[in-house]
Amino acid sequence: MLNFERVKIKHEPSEERVKTFAVEPLLEYTEHEAVAEASRCIGCNICTQACPASLDIGGYINSTAVGDPAQTVRIVFETLPFPAIIGRVCTHLCEDICVLYDTGGPIAIRHLKRYAADQFDDYSQIIKTPKKKFLDKKVAIIGGGPAGLTVAFYLSIQGVKVSLFESLPALGGFMKTGIPRYRLPDDVLEKEIGFITSQGVDVHLNTRIGEEVTFEELTRDYDAVFVGVGNHKPRMTGTPGSDAENMYHGIEFLKRVSLGEHIDVGKNVVIVGGGFTANDCSRTAMRLGAENVHIMYRRREIDRPGYPSMNADEEMEESLEENVKYDWEVTPFEYVKEGNRIVAVKYWVNEMVTEGRGRAKPVPQKDKVHTIPADCVIEATGQETDYSFIGEENLRQLRLTPQGSPIIDEAGMTSIKGVFSGGDSTNPNRDLISAVRDADRAVNGILSYLNVMDQVADDHLPVLDRWKKYSVTAAKNAYAERKT
Ligand SMILES: Cc1cc2nc3c(=O)[nH]c(=O)nc-3n(C[C@H](O)[C@H](O)[C@H](O)COP(=O)(O)OP(=O)(O)OC[C@H]3O[C@@H](n4cnc5c(N)ncnc54)[C@H](O)[C@@H]3O)c2cc1C
Ligand code: SF4
Repeated sequence: MLNFERVKIKHEPSEERVKTFAVEPLLEYTEHEAVAEASRCIGCNICTQACPASLDIGGYINSTAVGDPAQTVRIVFETLPFPAIIGRVCTHLCEDICVLYDTGGPIAIRHLKRYAADQFDDYSQIIKTPKKKFLDKKVAIIGGGPAGLTVAFYLSIQGVKVSLFESLPALGGFMKTGIPRYRLPDDVLEKEIGFITSQGVDVHLNTRIGEEVTFEELTRDYDAVFVGVGNHKPRMTGTPGSDAENMYHGIEFLKRVSLGEHIDVGKNVVIVGGGFTANDCSRTAMRLGAENVHIMYRRREIDRPGYPSMNADEEMEESLEENVKYDWEVTPFEYVKEGNRIVAVKYWVNEMVTEGRGRAKPVPQKDKVHTIPADCVIEATGQETDYSFIGEENLRQLRLTPQGSPIIDEAGMTSIKGVFSGGDSTNPNRDLISAVRDADRAVNGILSYLNVMDQVADDHLPVLDRWKKYSVTAAKNAYAERKT
């Protein structure tokens, strides 16, 4: 008998998983479950509209349905080289727009990708890269995040000599230092990043461009440069008391924990901010032994960054299951210190005020002061691009948006000839799949710029804009309509 209901993914019990970074909250589909779920898909590929990297979703769901996960992985590799990573943490806007949303639930596209990718420990058994002919071209990549790694993969397999420079001791960018290990285990990162670097990428860890090596050296010594440096300059609120020793910025906090440091967060943790980083900080704090974790956000639940989307709802559900508390519509205005340590946070409750057609604004009600105890405060209040590493002279040549991001053309090239960019430092979507899409565009752009398009293996170029135009708004609207 036909079953139109989405096959539910099982969760590890929250009381167990919250004690450790070693347990993923979501269990994986079994073969039977994966085939049953994939068999629901009608292959219309409407979902591809909402995928920034325009993956052939209908195609790879179909190969999973017929029991061929290797083919699923091959189809994903047409556009992106980390199916197991994206199968765990993608923002999956494709599911928000799936035509089966109201008929048993959207196809579990993300879980199915994870299932397929996890069937293989070594992709070299199933992914055949072109027979390399050295193209006599050298490209430098700055930044070992998803954007830089994607460029490295697709250029290397075409025979371009790629050198990748990463300031940290590990590759992965925010996949390694932002997203915590309970969501993205190390063995998954190692498998997929290892496959990319095994294509002959010359990796230089602990090498910050602008310090160990200058930007000028790269533009002088290489035929093209890709800049995938993300956003790593913390944006702080400047709240009085911020100079305390037990106050962290979210990305610094997560990075230190990801790179192996144990931070003593104490019992009561206050997180300021309302987006995905705040969620990751809260659940990381729980796993470091905190008992009361409060996320304090100045607007309403429906105003939080990333909402409306199924992804935002799922992340919040998982945090709530783990006992994280959300305090909406509040403004922390003082971190109360004893000596050099914060012991409490003072805050006002806000009233949301709408003027005309504009977005409702939080207005603090200052007649009453509230206080919450805190052994540690983490500000998850965003971060900015830092392009100072390219030096003043180059900065003058770099055309920037009013927000300070480099402007790139349709090939991904900045206003500096031969210097390409993409990922978080240029793309306001700030998610993995958008960084990959930017990288795919830059790969095509770099190969054209180097004038070697007639020598490359066309069938191994990353596919761009398959079938339909990407629309994040369409996905968000589809999800928002269903929620009202
Ligand atoms: C806490 C957190 C959770 C997230 N969760 C998700 C999620 O669940 N799903 C999702 O899709 N997205 C998520 N994101 C966003 C996603 O991780 C980013 O959009 C993505 O990593 C951006 O890729 P990128 O390659 O542009 O930059 P990054 O991943 O930031 O990588 C840039 C790299 O460049 C290096 N670098 C910077 N400057 C230099 C220099 N001068 N020299 C050498 N190296 C340099 C940095 O060290 C870094 O490794 C999350 C982000 C954070 C912070
Ligand atoms: S929109 Fe849904 S049913 Fe259509 S191809 Fe995508 S996953 Fe399958």
